[in-house]
Amino acid sequence: MRFGLSDEQEMIVSTVRSFVENEIYPHEALVEKTGEVPQEVAQEIKQKVIDLGFYASNFPESVGGPGLSHLEFALVERELGRGSMALTHFFGRPQNILMACQGEQIEKYLMPAVRGERMDALAMTEPDAGSDVRGMKCTATRDGGDWVINGSKHFISGADHADFFIVFVATGVDETPKGPKKRITCFLVDRGTPGFEVAKGYNSVSHRGYKNCILYFDNCRLSDAQVLGEVDGGFAVMNEWLYATRITVATMSVGRARRVFDHAVQYAAERKQFGQSIGKFQGVSFQIADMITEIDAADYLTLASAWRLDEGLPANREIASAKVYASEMLARVTDAALQIHGGMGLMDELPIERFWRDARVERIWDGTSEIQRHIISREIFRPLGA
Ligand SMILES: Cc1cc2nc3c(=O)[nH]c(=O)nc-3n(C[C@H](O)[C@H](O)[C@H](O)COP(=O)(O)OP(=O)(O)OC[C@H]3O[C@@H](n4cnc5c(N)ncnc54)[C@H](O)[C@@H]3O)c2cc1C
Repeated sequence: MRFGLSDEQEMIVSTVRSFVENEIYPHEALVEKTGEVPQEVAQEIKQKVIDLGFYASNFPESVGGPGLSHLEFALVERELGRGSMALTHFFGRPQNILMACQGEQIEKYLMPAVRGERMDALAMTEPDAGSDVRGMKCTATRDGGDWVINGSKHFISGADHADFFIVFVATGVDETPKGPKKRITCFLVDRGTPGFEVAKGYNSVSHRGYKNCILYFDNCRLSDAQVLGEVDGGFAVMNEWLYATRITVATMSVGRARRVFDHAVQYAAERKQFGQSIGKFQGVSFQIADMITEIDAADYLTLASAWRLDEGLPANREIASAKVYASEMLARVTDAALQIHGGMGLMDELPIERFWRDARVERIWDGTSEIQRHIISREIFRPLGA
């Protein structure tokens, strides 16, 4: 077992870290203040990432991506986690589910997404169907040769500037011994399709400037050519391609925690009370010790789950463990960092309150902590038939 990175992997880390420090950090204060990413900034970030050869770094070389391993992609995400999500979004990691594109979909969606010409958003969640994906009410019914979509989706990230949408919709119901079970199909929907509206979403306490929208479908007609994967095969395509996205939440949590940690250490070393650095008080130094221990633990857990994917080993339980542990670790670390900063930690003079707010969503999206624990325990009990 070797824990070191290769020279090439070290290079990936240092390249992405410098990019985040030089191209993302300088814009963060403006995004926090205005809640907007200026279009020219978004475009500039995108172009620089393309020039660097890192755009669509989750895609294989066969479709024009850099062909990184899962572990290398996790290293990229870990560094991106240091920066503001609203800005790093333009570092461009299209949904890898686009690898399921077939025929004309390849030139219309997959390739332009990988080249950075078209941006995507993924829409699964509905007002009445969050963790319970199969509870979705958005339906597609047959009419002539078309599909007619009705319903809505909410919390859809990046939908404000997406050119097309990967949308999961119920296309029927099977009667099973456990009761009715909805069949799901995945569709590719272009912005501007008649009957499809992208509306302003809610203001979130986390990740200011990284917007979420509400999607409305009102007799929106789509052809068979818009089906991604097979009709009624939405779960298959979801399980094949969205399986690994939880690693992203975990790695980004680790990256952000390391940035927060550096702030906390610096402050604890510089801030003096009772005639000495507060870091010399055991009440503070032990918090620092616990923070770094937890960060390292989350880091190893996360990278090991990515490594398992590269090795072709089962990783569902490990990915869920990484997601739940890293996101909850980030909450504890940002809270401790804020405590170490005292009152200043709450003020928007410093980025600490932002890290603390941003951390909150990581335990919710891409499957809540409770759902991850459900996955972990199910994997443990399944072999016992329990
Ligand atoms: C800022 C933001 C951006 C998002 N972006 C996207 C996006 O781009 N695309 C997209 O499709 N979705 C997106 N989501 C949706 C996100 O994935 C869901 O919020 C998440 O899956 C939880 O669903 P919910 O919010 O409806 O909560 P619910 O599912 O209603 O859960 C409420 C509570 O009940 C608990 N709970 C539910 N079921 C169980 C159970 N079986 N056992 C134990 N506890 C349970 C949950 O853990 C939670 O604590 C986004 C969400 C946010 C907040």
